[in-house]
Amino acid sequence: MQITAAETAGQLAPLPAKLRTCAAPGARASAGTVREALCAAALQADAEDAFFVADLGEVQRQYAQWAQLLPRVQPFFAVKCNPDPLVVKLLARLGAGFDCASRAELQQALDEGVAPHNIIYAHPCKPASHVRFARASGVAMMTFDNADELAKMRALYPGARAVLRILADDSGALCQLGRKFGAAPESTLGLLQTAQRLGVAVVGVSFHVGSGSQSADAFADAVLRARRVFDQAAALGMRLTLLDVGGGFPGRGDQSGLAFADVAAALRAALDQHFPPAAAAHVRIIAEPGRYFVASAFSLAVNVVARRVEPRADGPAFMYYVNDGVYGSFNCIVFDHQRPVPRVLTCRGRLVDASPAAAGFESSVWGPTCDSIDCIVPDGRLPELHVGDWLVFDAMGAYTICAASRFNGFKISDIVYVDTERALL
Ligand SMILES: *Cc1c(COP(=O)(O)O)cnc(C)c1O
Repeated sequence: MQITAAETAGQLAPLPAKLRTCAAPGARASAGTVREALCAAALQADAEDAFFVADLGEVQRQYAQWAQLLPRVQPFFAVKCNPDPLVVKLLARLGAGFDCASRAELQQALDEGVAPHNIIYAHPCKPASHVRFARASGVAMMTFDNADELAKMRALYPGARAVLRILADDSGALCQLGRKFGAAPESTLGLLQTAQRLGVAVVGVSFHVGSGSQSADAFADAVLRARRVFDQAAALGMRLTLLDVGGGFPGRGDQSGLAFADVAAALRAALDQHFPPAAAAHVRIIAEPGRYFVASAFSLAVNVVARRVEPRADGPAFMYYVNDGVYGSFNCIVFDHQRPVPRVLTCRGRLVDASPAAAGFESSVWGPTCDSIDCIVPDGRLPELHVGDWLVFDAMGAYTICAASRFNGFKISDIVYVDTERALL
């Protein structure tokens, strides 16, 4: 890697395009419940477009639960999970920090007035121009897991506060990150020494147990690994002051069945053992939850725009075509390994709002594009629906909108906001 002096001193490139959000500019939340908003929008005459109902109150409740169960740990919301402008605004107001992985994410957090010391640039492999932007903005905390990145920091941001991302055991997670990031235990000592030689200040250790972690024990094991690196650093005369326990916390009602309370209890115990409050009073402990804050806050209503009935010996099988799919919000099926399950909001235009009973007909649910990979529910059971009826998928707030495309000319679903805790009203 070569970094020229001109680059080090270089001017900042123009701002990147806005992050992918589908909230209308100036969107506001209203009073009322999620169910009221779903019904109001879906039962409007001529309503057709798929839409989300986002409850900011749910984000606030998740934040309150975090503060109660993990009081030693300041959450830094992982923006990539859902960069919704109102969610980011709310979490900033509540006092959360932010985990940003690119220049545009840093900019979004800064635009909300978040102080640079409450932002971590948590990507171990950063483009030079994004590092220069962090420097210009005073965002000093940034992760690394290799020696080249240390050389980059020294050249581009000598005042950076480097955080060593170590490998955690993510074998029990839906999305494993260790294949791509994380210093192996046998390399951490060498990296600390390299940093010392280069004069880059290492301030702490981070890890990520994998997104959609299915095991409460993963955190305990990773905290122990972090402790070993703290001890290695101490032996080199370095005093680390930051422990970042990463993301991987389950959302409410997570499909894994793992409860946040159990993960929090396991993490609390591991922190108390390896970083006891008295001995580790100088250590700031942070985390990078993404899914935890937003998964349960977003419900997606989709409209049946077409159907096909296949006669079968044992009764008809229905194929329903709806107006958001795998190329849109349901990209979480491919990238986030989710299996969304619908409930029926309307049936023949009448409000039902019920989880489908096993007694229904054999049914599949398909997205709007021309591709056959665009299948949301390959085989389920639903009552007989008609064109114009609505299905609702709950817990659609994590890793959905942010990675949606407009493939085939279909729009990204809009958002209606409610605020059941009057968090931003
Ligand atoms: C994606 C990611 C997160 C958030 O993970 P969740 O499983 O959504 O909590 C946190 N930190 C880093 C570095 C990430 O890449």
